[in-house]
Amino acid sequence: MHSKIRLAFEKMVGCSNIITQDLNNYNRDWMNKYVGQSQLVLTPQTSEHVSQILKYCNQNQLKVVPQSGNTGLVGGSVPINDEIVISMRKMNKIYEFDQNSAIITSESGVILQNLNDYLFEYKYQMPWDLGARGSCLLGGNISTNAGGLNVVKHGLLRNYIMGLEVVLPNGKILNLMNKNRKDNTGTDLKQLFIGSEGTLGIITKANVLCIPIPQEKKVFFLELQSFQDVIKVLQKVKKNEQVLAFEFMEGRILKKNKNRHSQNTLPFQFDDNKYYVLIEIAGQQLNVDQFSIEMMEFTQEIIINQNEKEAQFLWKLREEIAESMGKMGYVLKYDVSIPPDKFEWLVNQVYPQREGPFHVYYGHVGDGNVHINIVFESLEHLHKEEDKIELKLFGLVKSLGGSISAEHGIGQHKRKYMELQKGKDVLECLYSIKKLFDPNSIMNPNKLL
Ligand SMILES: Cc1cc2nc3c(=O)[nH]c(=O)nc-3n(C[C@H](O)[C@H](O)[C@H](O)COP(=O)(O)OP(=O)(O)OC[C@H]3O[C@@H](n4cnc5c(N)ncnc54)[C@H](O)[C@@H]3O)c2cc1C
Repeated sequence: MHSKIRLAFEKMVGCSNIITQDLNNYNRDWMNKYVGQSQLVLTPQTSEHVSQILKYCNQNQLKVVPQSGNTGLVGGSVPINDEIVISMRKMNKIYEFDQNSAIITSESGVILQNLNDYLFEYKYQMPWDLGARGSCLLGGNISTNAGGLNVVKHGLLRNYIMGLEVVLPNGKILNLMNKNRKDNTGTDLKQLFIGSEGTLGIITKANVLCIPIPQEKKVFFLELQSFQDVIKVLQKVKKNEQVLAFEFMEGRILKKNKNRHSQNTLPFQFDDNKYYVLIEIAGQQLNVDQFSIEMMEFTQEIIINQNEKEAQFLWKLREEIAESMGKMGYVLKYDVSIPPDKFEWLVNQVYPQREGPFHVYYGHVGDGNVHINIVFESLEHLHKEEDKIELKLFGLVKSLGGSISAEHGIGQHKRKYMELQKGKDVLECLYSIKKLFDPNSIMNPNKLL
């Protein structure tokens, strides 16, 4: 790095917030699929730091990549070339929880789990939850409009963000820190930054509406004979407002993961050709017996947790899938939105007779979001197949009126399919917005747009 640039950053943020060595963790994504070449990581501690950094980078045409927990699955949080990484980890102050409005005010670099730990004493929690909760940060969640496990009941993250502070590429600190549930004063500017994957500015603070911790919870784990049965169960439980999560898993991945656990802890022996559903219900005065009877219409094979430890174990079987796939090799990950009854059909179109490399589908069936994971033994093989699979898969998704990204975002992975997804006119509008906020294209270049 040019010594003049280093000196400028030293003046702005101090030597202790500049990292130039051992940058592997900042350059490499969670899946080991994307590797950047950054030579410089900055760790701002205040919004003013972020402002000065962006202003300088904008004036000197230096490209930057905002990074939070780096758990993103589309290569959005790592550089492609030698962009400067702006790591938000040190902006981790929680300011307050207002019990009257149920709004938490926090810097954007707080780990999701830490927000929940803080809220616990108030008997509140964050309105979204995902497997990466121990590593992902608030700002990363907001920038990806993260989905996760509770969307069935609580809806999307976007609805819970009451206010934001955002630093624009020109260094301006935009105060959008609204705390009113109702604020009908024209265009809601903060919405532009939610889900924009660090391409318009850096989110530094947020006001988030929290939800009460439910008094009771129960986890049901079902074994079903066919995918049609999964859909029948879904139709039945959709009407029940106590359903917090509805997760689907194929037998073939649960069976593969069996040896991660001692046999007597498993709810089932797991069969390659069977289908498994995890349903969590939550609320006051749960009618567990009634719910069980309703489920028995579809299967006798039902396990219900008896205590918190068992609930956690049943959830582990679902949540470990992403990690276990990663351990098998290099994984192509898709998360698409389509009508839930088309999940099996879609996978069968891509891999007739389920032949080809090891692949599974699973995910948040309750909100129409399926994850398809395909494992390759080498990165070269993965890249060779990638385009072929995507042309077919995304074409089918489009024909079903679906979305090529239900929750992970676009990043570098799906950028070239944005026109297919959005159409020319919408894309043109998005480019105009990008140009307005970031005329020099310094923010997260070659991601999303
Ligand atoms: C095991 C596992 C399970 C997961 N489960 C889910 C799931 O159920 N649902 C789901 O939606 N995702 C899931 N993910 C994906 C990922 O965790 C989410 O996308 C998460 O929201 C990313 O948060 P992060 O802090 O890691 O952000 P990062 O990965 O660091 O960044 C994500 C994007 O946001 C931008 N960004 C980060 N911070 C800021 C900021 N402060 N201002 C502006 N831009 C910023 C980055 O440039 C990047 O484009 C999972 C990932 C893993 C590893």
